[in-house]
Amino acid sequence: MTTLIDGTAIAATIRDEIKDDVARLKAQHGITPGLATVLVGDDPASATYVRSKRKACAEVGIESFGYELPATTTQDELLRLVAELGQRADVHGILVQVPLPDQIDEKTALDAVPIQKDVDGFNPANLGVLGVKGQRPVFAPCTPQGCIELLDRTGVKIAGKRAVVLGRSTIVGLPVALMLLSRDATVTLCHSKTVNLPSVTREADILVAAIGKAHFVTADMVKPGAVVIDVGTNRIADPTRKSGSRLVGDVDFEAVKEIAAAITPVPGGVGPMTIAMLLKNTLLAARRRAEK
Ligand code: NAP
Repeated sequence: MTTLIDGTAIAATIRDEIKDDVARLKAQHGITPGLATVLVGDDPASATYVRSKRKACAEVGIESFGYELPATTTQDELLRLVAELGQRADVHGILVQVPLPDQIDEKTALDAVPIQKDVDGFNPANLGVLGVKGQRPVFAPCTPQGCIELLDRTGVKIAGKRAVVLGRSTIVGLPVALMLLSRDATVTLCHSKTVNLPSVTREADILVAAIGKAHFVTADMVKPGAVVIDVGTNRIADPTRKSGSRLVGDVDFEAVKEIAAAITPVPGGVGPMTIAMLLKNTLLAARRRAEK
């Protein structure tokens, strides 16, 4: 029988654990973890993401400091704010919401977040050590870390398995592949130039899809008994919905669930884990400060 990997339930458990740990940190050290969120411009999707991150913080007792800057903000103005937040003792994590307006270079802005406060884990120095055995990043990036937690909390053994990751972006595919490698999986990382992709994906005991193409992974691309983690979030037209659309993953869920040993749904799989990992990283940042 196929296991449905319920990211919503697993994330709720993790948030409860974080809530207890936050309370303990306050009681023992008098420190409340603090996350600064920086939103530039008025992109509605970004505003929604930031709102849900701040709400999740409040629910576990993490303080959040919201900064909303106009779309006309210059790169220098943003960098000045990030530098100020970098100095503040009550801010343990800084999150600069992307995408940023055109006049701001995203890489420059993200690289400006001090690595000790980079709770998104986007700093390139973090990426460098992810695949190195015996080394740990300052912070593991949230979505990839969420994928690994889903496997761990579902009891999926990673060591020795054949893992195939679809997509090599620096925020999802590449770090997931490196994290699986550091956990002793034998990893193949695929991308748009991979030749005969189905023959590669069919070898996977663990298949992670992160390409951003609705229903791309079909049942004939999956080995029976594989564990399938679907990171993709794609909006497709659905006239039966009031909104006229719905979210689907990169995997043809209905067909693949018939042959997979375990699979994440979209929505309700990897998505809720990303915010849970952001809370976890913010708590970790505050704990490190307390132990200094
Ligand atoms: P991205 O930066 O656009 O990267 C897509 C990757 O997929 C690239 O490496 C690309 O290859 C590869 N690709 C594209 N078409 C392909 C094909 N036909 N065959 C094989 N590989 C192909 O995307 P991303 O930022 O990593 O995001 C991927 C998906 O995850 C999106 O749907 C995004 O919305 C979702 N996501 C979800 C969460 C969450 O919390 N659930 C978080 C982040 C992202 P090349 O490198 O060769 O171009």
